[in-house]
Amino acid sequence: MKYTIALAFCMTISMSYAQRDWDNVEIKTEKVADDIYALFGSGGNIGLAVGADYAYLIDDQFAPLSDKIMAAVREKTDKPIKFLVNTHWHGDHTGGNAKFAKSGTVIIAHDAVRMRMATVQERGEGRSSQPSPYEALPKITYSDQLKIHLDSTRTMHIMHVNPSHTDGDSYIYFPESNVIHMGDNFSNGGYPYIDLNSGGDIDGFIRNHNMVLFLIDDETKIIPGHGPVTNRKKLMAYRDMLVRLRTRVKKAKSSGKTLEETLNLRLSSEWDDEFGQGFIDPTEIISSIYWSLDD
Ligand SMILES: [Zn+2]
Repeated sequence: MKYTIALAFCMTISMSYAQRDWDNVEIKTEKVADDIYALFGSGGNIGLAVGADYAYLIDDQFAPLSDKIMAAVREKTDKPIKFLVNTHWHGDHTGGNAKFAKSGTVIIAHDAVRMRMATVQERGEGRSSQPSPYEALPKITYSDQLKIHLDSTRTMHIMHVNPSHTDGDSYIYFPESNVIHMGDNFSNGGYPYIDLNSGGDIDGFIRNHNMVLFLIDDETKIIPGHGPVTNRKKLMAYRDMLVRLRTRVKKAKSSGKTLEETLNLRLSSEWDDEFGQGFIDPTEIISSIYWSLDD
């Protein structure tokens, strides 16, 4: 059961990759602050920041979309795309790396992102992802944090956070513009994917969300990894849901219940309509919390 989620993830990625009609994907751009945009297409949400000299990207979806993404960036700026930050290693956020690198952009990510992209990753039930080619790997890596100065006043803070979706997750925070990109630590509208094979952990989600809620205010624009741009109030409700769900699963597991018995309790039923209809269904969120708990 531990590997059901990873398997579902692999199948979703490979099936969707094969079946998707890339020609029909349209890249939509939403302004979230002065010179900061969110780009939506197929895969993880992209962030675009335009500085005094250069443009900067956060994540790059899938390789077949790179030309469309570059064209969407050109609608907003003709400055060169200097750096591109990966929020984590998954292919729907890093698929365009090689193409952007070839066009002169330097890829930046946490040490664990490069390590996982450079090596075979076990995905459960005998499945694995093969290493990415050298061209796709991040060329600047960090262990903790990094700051990019966009112009004389605005900055972009890249922060590694507690293992949650994976062990290489970063948030990208623009304090002066009051915007934060949370990667897949926040799937707005769906249960989170706790990638246990990549070091994911439910407690990390909750700790990271608490940190962000402390950091931001009611006016902050949150770019989630998936789903529409949102705000602090929505993140707080999401955090509360995760805390309650974790408490329930913990209680069941601590009392000696097996995973099957825990699933039969239908502990997430009150949130399933809102969060359980997409990529991570009720069985998967309960299972991943169950296996992610320490004892
Ligand atoms: Zn992901």
